Amino acid sequence: MRAELDRTISILQGERPAPQAGAGYPQDSADAGSTLSEADRTEAVLHSARGQRDEVAAALTRIDENTYGRCTDCGGEIPEGRLDARPDAARCVGCQAKHARRR
Ligand SMILES: [Zn+2]
Repeated sequence: MRAELDRTISILQGERPAPQAGAGYPQDSADAGSTLSEADRTEAVLHSARGQRDEVAAALTRIDENTYGRCTDCGGEIPEGRLDARPDAARCVGCQAKHARRR
């Protein structure tokens, strides 16, 4: 799962125009507009892929520490059904809901 996300991220990073790419490009205003929104979209996907990778990495750390399957907030066991749906789940359903509301 982590390797998959790493691949997605590197593909997206390859697609993303380098920050200094504008220097060598003819600056057509209409073109620049579409390039920007495309870059924004890529950036958004990249951001969520990175966030997901961090969660998977954290889950792998918890496996190493033998705390995998335990809620990071209350220490309670995360139901297996939840782990099937979200193998990288860090919290039990109740704590996740609280966590989501805090955001
Ligand atoms: Zn909990």
